[in-house]
Amino acid sequence: MCCDGTLFHSVLLQSGDPSRKLASLGLKIKIKKGRSYFLQPCPAHEGNRCRIYEDRPVRCRIFNCQQLLRLFAGEATEAQALSKIQEARRQVDHVNHLIDHLSETNQKRGLTQRCAQALQTDVKTPRHAELETAMKKLALFLENEFRVKPETNLV
Ligand code: SF4
Repeated sequence: MCCDGTLFHSVLLQSGDPSRKLASLGLKIKIKKGRSYFLQPCPAHEGNRCRIYEDRPVRCRIFNCQQLLRLFAGEATEAQALSKIQEARRQVDHVNHLIDHLSETNQKRGLTQRCAQALQTDVKTPRHAELETAMKKLALFLENEFRVKPETNLV
């Protein structure tokens, strides 16, 4: 979920990241206001694995979601963490189903962006309201159970 556009829509490169090499490995590096980043879903994410694992960017190397941190700290068991992951995936599947039902969206964008795209309409139907509610619920769940505050030494 931290690579497929569920948790994040972009990854900022850090000073130690070799952007040319990462680009040669298939990451589509963009630059905005002098900052280098790439969008998610990540092109190196294949079959739930990182195709460029040995060369992955700094942020990818240091990121541990809340579930992993709780596991490391002994505050949660593997079964509890897996249960949270399964719940998140169930909600993501539901949101994706609702999005696909409403409109075609750009699959190269993160889930939040695709959801916003699907909700951009003059006519609101009960399906739109259902998607809005499901996305809000998912966003809260991801915030409480998976995202972590960015490290202060990172850009
Ligand atoms: S480079 Fe690898 S670890 Fe980083 S977002 Fe892409 S697939 Fe995930």
